[in-house]
Amino acid sequence: MVLHTMETAKATEVRPTRTLLDQLEDAGLLLRTGVDGLYIRTAAYQEVADGIDAMVSRWAATLHATRLHMPPLIPRTSFERTNYLESFPDLMGSVHVFAGGEVEHRQLLQRATRGHPWSELLQPSELMLEPAVCHGVYPLCARRPGSGPWLFDVSGHCFRSEPSKEPTRLQSFLMHEVVYVGEAAGAEAHRDMALDRGQALLESLGLEVAAVPASDPFFGRVGNVLAASQLDEQLKTELVAEVPGNSRPTALLSANYHRDHFGRSFGIETTVGELAHSACVGFGVDRIAIALLATQGLDPSRWAPSLRSLLRL
Ligand code: 5GP
Ligand code: ZN
Repeated sequence: MVLHTMETAKATEVRPTRTLLDQLEDAGLLLRTGVDGLYIRTAAYQEVADGIDAMVSRWAATLHATRLHMPPLIPRTSFERTNYLESFPDLMGSVHVFAGGEVEHRQLLQRATRGHPWSELLQPSELMLEPAVCHGVYPLCARRPGSGPWLFDVSGHCFRSEPSKEPTRLQSFLMHEVVYVGEAAGAEAHRDMALDRGQALLESLGLEVAAVPASDPFFGRVGNVLAASQLDEQLKTELVAEVPGNSRPTALLSANYHRDHFGRSFGIETTVGELAHSACVGFGVDRIAIALLATQGLDPSRWAPSLRSLLRL
């Protein structure tokens, strides 16, 4: 009787559907590390990401942008000049290092072997994790007053402390930005041009995107006001797509006009000695790769030849 009940239960059991992350792992593209939002990329996945990265760079080269590869870290002094501490404290990450002697080392090992917390024995270093690759270029401009306008093609790994089960929201992800620093009119024109061009690039890959006014996830009550005014002034636009398996449309690209925010905080001067304005257009390389995999199939070797050739696969 008991056996019969169990068998009936088995027969009617609904097999939980495989999430997008499960499917990416089953297909040998991303591998879990045990921490949500941190995945190891296989060669098959990275080829797609590199193809997207290179495609953005080929376009940026036509604009004569300076190509830079950002490290995943930023000097703490530069970080303090961005608005991260004020606006996004919940997303930031800091690098801490061991700076003790042998006594402290013994303490550290004792705690670790007993399974006790040991990270308070580390000291903050002069480095923070980079939350957006454009942050790295402003100190470069500040060091060369009056030599702009500057146009950069920058990419690198970013960190944001926002663990999630959705593979399009990562803690460590690849961002590729095309950044203008110079006069106000130039910054606005760059934002508009790069948004249009970015949309054309994504559409050429077969992605259906829609441009929507957006705001950054500013922290706290003051943050609500900042987000409302960012929306009001239309300073941020995102290109969003439906990614199968995601609960909401996903931003694959964002276009941002910062006014003189970075010019002022980093002390960047234009050729005529005014505070520089800036604009950046950021491609979420991992999000674009995952959107392609989720819509075109999990085996890139079977994608349409036209798509493979655009990505030089
Ligand atoms: P933003 O600075 O506008 O937040 O980010 C720029 C672009 O980076 C976004 O449009 C998006 O494509 C990508 N991005 C932002 N956050 C994440 C994230 O958590 N995971 C991934 N994979 N990409 C992100
Ligand atoms: Zn940026």
